[in-house]
Amino acid sequence: MASRVIPVEAFDLVIFGGTGDLARRKILPGLYRRFRDGQIPPEARIVGAARTEIDDAGFRALVEAALKEFLPARLCERESVEAFLGILGYVPIDAKGEAGWPELKARMREGVVQAFYFSVGPSLFGALAERLHRHEIAGEGARIVVEKPFGHNLETARALNATLAEHFDEHQIYRIDHYLGKETVQNLMAVRFANMLFEPLWKNQYVDHVQITVAETVGVGGRGAYYDQAGAMRDMVQNHLMQLLCLIAMEPPARFEPDAVRDEKLKVIRALEPVAPGDIVRGQYRAAGGMASYRDDVENPESLTESFVAMKVKVANWRWNGTPFYLRTGKRMKARLSEIIVRFKEPPHSIFEEDTGHRANELRIRLQPNEGMDLTVTIKEPGPGGMRLVDVPLDMTFAEALGAEAADAPDAYERLIMDVIRGNQTLFMRGDEVEAAWAWTDPIIAAWEKREDAPLPYECGSTGPEEAAILLHRDGRRWGDLTP
Ligand code: NAP
Repeated sequence: MASRVIPVEAFDLVIFGGTGDLARRKILPGLYRRFRDGQIPPEARIVGAARTEIDDAGFRALVEAALKEFLPARLCERESVEAFLGILGYVPIDAKGEAGWPELKARMREGVVQAFYFSVGPSLFGALAERLHRHEIAGEGARIVVEKPFGHNLETARALNATLAEHFDEHQIYRIDHYLGKETVQNLMAVRFANMLFEPLWKNQYVDHVQITVAETVGVGGRGAYYDQAGAMRDMVQNHLMQLLCLIAMEPPARFEPDAVRDEKLKVIRALEPVAPGDIVRGQYRAAGGMASYRDDVENPESLTESFVAMKVKVANWRWNGTPFYLRTGKRMKARLSEIIVRFKEPPHSIFEEDTGHRANELRIRLQPNEGMDLTVTIKEPGPGGMRLVDVPLDMTFAEALGAEAADAPDAYERLIMDVIRGNQTLFMRGDEVEAAWAWTDPIIAAWEKREDAPLPYECGSTGPEEAAILLHRDGRRWGDLTP
């Protein structure tokens, strides 16, 4: 099956923080791939902006080096790279200063889509929004893209929403959560809402429980100072895991349109029950296998911040009452793996006398590595020897089903940036969604802080604290294996 690349219209995209890590590692290589595929037209313009005093040529050299560093050589043919560098420019700007804004304004064209990517720390979002407005750089239909973290709690998220709202309408604000840009996440919606097979079973009557795991092998890396203020709950659960939970738990929207989808997600967040202290396990990694402890990594010997969370979450509505959602995420774990498991209930009665196993269908949605989906079904083991049953996965991995080009499909950032240019907010978080997510998370964190709860230690390279396994064992369940 041949892939269809539909070009987007011409645009001017300004990347504030164009010299930073995220821009070099994800945004610019992603834009290059879309350009190379013919999705970004040669009439597009991309302007980097940051404090570093470089000119257009200096920025192009920086981007060329980033492409070489972060993309496979087979994608970096000279001709394509040069053509891409040709659409790049740079303006030195301090978000908090007054210089550079007229130069930026002079670069912006009329009659094309305008987008401004805030790939800088959140403390600069307000300054950027205010200056874009005051210097009349952002036209009526302009869009801004804001990175995580979106606030530190409900209060700061509200303040940030209010600041952005002073200068931009909600339909202009794209709060990015790159998990929503993943091919599999979108496929999940296709599987749920474009088939008759799953949706009738997608409820407490037939689903035993849902697991959402985002496990990382890395530690806090160079983000120690930020991470120690945030922890796994703020850094991962409040946004990524919550968004995944919403997509699994939401009611079918009437249309695949931004507000229809986001209204349904918001209802899920509002239906979440407060989590009982006994239903949460917090962990913090300790040194093992040559890897340093969390406290050493963040250079805070008394840190009480969690690098791991596992929790049992209840969605209090008709569809999900009695079907728990188990979430877990952590750093320095055994494997790098993000997946959702929807475990269906066992058949009410087995007619096969020889079968002693407890069998249940399981839909596994793998976000990384090896994006894909499979559904475990029970069949008769082929051959003689009576009615022996065996569980086999039905593979719905697109790389195999749809051909090799699917493996080279756009990554999450690429897809989401193209959605910004198309003006499609479906896969971006709305302000009220973010606030509702904080409203649910805040009391949990506040209770830890009040009690000065110390996270449980777990060894680097493990599956997290033993208590996380017990959280499921006591319900007669177990986590999926952390095998990539
Ligand atoms: P970074 O490497 O520290 O880059 C920050 C960028 O902002 C640099 O280009 C810096 O350039 C620019 N900058 C800093 N102060 C500025 C100012 N006053 N005016 C104008 N530009 C300024 O950070 P990052 O990792 O790229 O992260 C950027 C944003 O994305 C953050 O909000 C972060 O939380 C978020 N994020 C990052 C990742 C990631 O993987 N890196 C993942 C998810 C979210 P100059 O020093 O030249 O000004």
